[in-house]
Amino acid sequence: MRYDVVVVGGGPIGGFVAKNIAEKGYNTAIFEEHKRIGTPLKCAGLVTPRVFDFFNFSKNKVVENKIYGANFHSPCGDVLTIGGNKLHALVIDRPQFDQEIMNKANDAGVELRLGSKAISGIKNADKIELEIKEECKVSKIKSFLLIGADGPHSKIRKTFDFPQPTEFLKGIGAKATDINLDPKYVEIFLGRNIAPGFFAWAIPTNKEGTEARIGLCIDETSKYTLKQCFNNLIKQKIFKNIKIKNHIAGTIPLGALKKTTTSNVMLVGDAAAQVKPTSGGGIYPGLICARHCSSIAIDSLENYNYSSRYLRRYHALWNNEIGKELNRGMIFRKIIKNLDDNKIDKYLNKINNTKNIDIICNYGDIDYPSKLAFPLLKKNPSFVRLLPSAFKNNTKR
Ligand SMILES: Cc1cc2nc3c(=O)[nH]c(=O)nc-3n(C[C@H](O)[C@H](O)[C@H](O)COP(=O)(O)OP(=O)(O)OC[C@H]3O[C@@H](n4cnc5c(N)ncnc54)[C@H](O)[C@@H]3O)c2cc1C
Repeated sequence: MRYDVVVVGGGPIGGFVAKNIAEKGYNTAIFEEHKRIGTPLKCAGLVTPRVFDFFNFSKNKVVENKIYGANFHSPCGDVLTIGGNKLHALVIDRPQFDQEIMNKANDAGVELRLGSKAISGIKNADKIELEIKEECKVSKIKSFLLIGADGPHSKIRKTFDFPQPTEFLKGIGAKATDINLDPKYVEIFLGRNIAPGFFAWAIPTNKEGTEARIGLCIDETSKYTLKQCFNNLIKQKIFKNIKIKNHIAGTIPLGALKKTTTSNVMLVGDAAAQVKPTSGGGIYPGLICARHCSSIAIDSLENYNYSSRYLRRYHALWNNEIGKELNRGMIFRKIIKNLDDNKIDKYLNKINNTKNIDIICNYGDIDYPSKLAFPLLKKNPSFVRLLPSAFKNNTKR
């Protein structure tokens, strides 16, 4: 079988890239190892409204709830409340979101092959040959371009010798019912017993605040397993009497790759670790990069040029738009990651005053956290002491 473009991975990023390319009339296929789009679920489903600027389907089909603020719970139990007046984020039905994108890809003429796993690939002359396993049958397919949108453990990244992400967070989550949350606020929990190296969350998914997605991520410094951390999380007072179902688990890659193209091949989305290091959110930055990926793919097809040099413009374009923000995010992440519980308590306490909260409300943006750094530092010069920890090595605690 021959295609102009093969996309490996039927997540939101692969679906969006394939749709854009097929709209220009190129013979495009997606190979997705699972039999259903959007499953298994590996996401908390919190995005900014900007995500919908990429699509022309109605928000109403996928938005479950609207978020206006956040309550940050420090390890000692203090609570810092931010926001409340302005819409900051949307809670989405992630499987339905992925399906809507795939419907658009289908309308554009993309051939979607479910239950089809890419197992190996080589470059041969000016084409890519990919081996695909469907049930027990292995077949070979050829294409001018191969786009790896195959998530955090990307097979395409490994097969074509791309660099690896700097680190991988492990995540766990579940659906909680019989809970009593303010539906306008997400709850964020910090501390080494609950979410060592990252944070835990409770995201209300209905307008009554009686249902939520709860979860957490940990990094390699954790001395607890994911399950132990999850059990510690649900001991919090706020989760008394809740019922838990539908456990999920997943990985978040951090540290966007320094190389995302080689001849005939491009990487995008989680496969390229195009993820916000401070929140683990990959949908928005992934879509930005996907837009550049598809436009360079189309350009290279129009000009019959699939060389590494030609495709490299994709790397430059996404870096120009979002690369700096992702790199700054890695610096903030290192600072936060190196704080022990006492320091987290101390700094949340320092932030907890009207002036700082106003600054966060004015400049805080989940997609662009660096916008907040300078105004916060200006108001709190002592925070500069945190900077050296961005360059400290991390050890197990
Ligand atoms: C616990 C958790 C919570 C998260 N919460 C949020 C959140 O609230 N907001 C947010 O923006 N982001 C969140 N993320 C991150 C977000 O889920 C990802 O950034 C996003 O899914 C990336 O999309 P993608 O299309 O690049 O990759 P994926 O969604 O991972 O899609 C990759 C696809 O490739 C397929 N695949 C993999 N290997 C192969 C192969 N060899 N052959 C064929 N198919 C293959 C997979 O089955 C999958 O369908 C979370 C992640 C985790 C783990």
